[in-house]
Amino acid sequence: MTSSALTRARFIERYGRFFGSQRMATIQNLGYLLVEAWGEGPYIFDAEGNRYLDLWNVGGVNSLGHRHPAVVRAMEEATRSQDYGSLFFFSEAKGQLAEALARTTPGRLEATLPAVTGSEAIDQAIKLARGATGRTEVLHGDHGYHGTTGFALTMIGAADMREWAEPLIPDFRAIRYGDVESLHEAISERTAAVVLEPVRTDYDGRAPAADYFPEVRRLCDEHGAKLIVDEVVTGMGRLGHLWGIDHWRVEPDILVTAKGFSGGMYPISAVVMRPEILDFWGANPYRNISSYAWSNIGAIVARTAIEETERLLPQANAMGDRLAAVLDDLAVRYPNALLSVRRTGLLYALDFRDEAAGMLFILGMFKRGVVVVASSQNLAVPKLYPPLILQNEQIAEFAEKAEDTLKTLP
Ligand code: PMP
Repeated sequence: MTSSALTRARFIERYGRFFGSQRMATIQNLGYLLVEAWGEGPYIFDAEGNRYLDLWNVGGVNSLGHRHPAVVRAMEEATRSQDYGSLFFFSEAKGQLAEALARTTPGRLEATLPAVTGSEAIDQAIKLARGATGRTEVLHGDHGYHGTTGFALTMIGAADMREWAEPLIPDFRAIRYGDVESLHEAISERTAAVVLEPVRTDYDGRAPAADYFPEVRRLCDEHGAKLIVDEVVTGMGRLGHLWGIDHWRVEPDILVTAKGFSGGMYPISAVVMRPEILDFWGANPYRNISSYAWSNIGAIVARTAIEETERLLPQANAMGDRLAAVLDDLAVRYPNALLSVRRTGLLYALDFRDEAAGMLFILGMFKRGVVVVASSQNLAVPKLYPPLILQNEQIAEFAEKAEDTLKTLP
């Protein structure tokens, strides 16, 4: 652990202006400033010696907790045994990661396009759907979040994140998430892609009904549109299966993974698809390039993260049941503030009375040393993304501090 004595005040004084003075002042005034010094398992430690239980984990980047030992070990070994590698070339490490994706993703998904971030991979997926179909229209769930690059940003529900960059990309249209009728009305022979998350994570944390994705699949097949499933948050065990869409037993045309894909140790993402989607590239195998995509080190780290996730899932699901019981109990005892809790696997959406109550809960928990965040589109619904290594001890800590906080809410 580093022993830096860098307090929050000193950080602002010394470095604040390099991150935008006004922006940093706003974060400080909000009371949400954390100067990280270390992370280990389910905890973050700040530079003043405080410990925080991390139930955010950057929406699943640290799905295995911070510095998961097997992932750290794999990364240390890889930095000794591997060169970064070059984007035009291949290696055993890259082959093994692509094979692990093909083995674990549904059905015929087999070919992979390497990428670095979630946003980038979503943009590539949409470009591929447009290229493969020769069509331009993209339908996406409303109140979605798929990233902050061009195509992804065009679909974002949060006006605050989008409007200052407009005009964005034409021929995108929102459909009502989870509503088959809305897709039915919109989809046609013009539709290149339908883009959906298995759970609408940035808004209400709602999982669609059991028949939704099978119906979406059927409508896409009927109209020749590609189904793109954004598994940036819902993949890597978050919904209780390795891939969220497994919950509905549906095979998309394209699956996008990022965040927890590397167990939080390496920026790496992937677009996994039915092999024929790449056929339209024809004679030029380099029709998309990303210089940092899939280093050999990242490939080894991500394969280790997949294997660890598979190993930990049964135990994580059992712990997830216990956390769900704690949350349901709190909702029963504090019904004025906490209206209900929605849970899919290890993703929990806490439905507060209004945005003020949601924010008070988040800030109250932060003050007590628990990191929980709101979605950018819905402050009334904080989400919990516990790590797959969750133990009884952390559930007890959460229960005690959540109760303490709920007691203070009006
Ligand atoms: N899709 C979803 C569902 C996300 O939550 C995010 C990031 N929060 C992204 C895509 C974009 O990923 P990244 O931030 O790595 O670009």
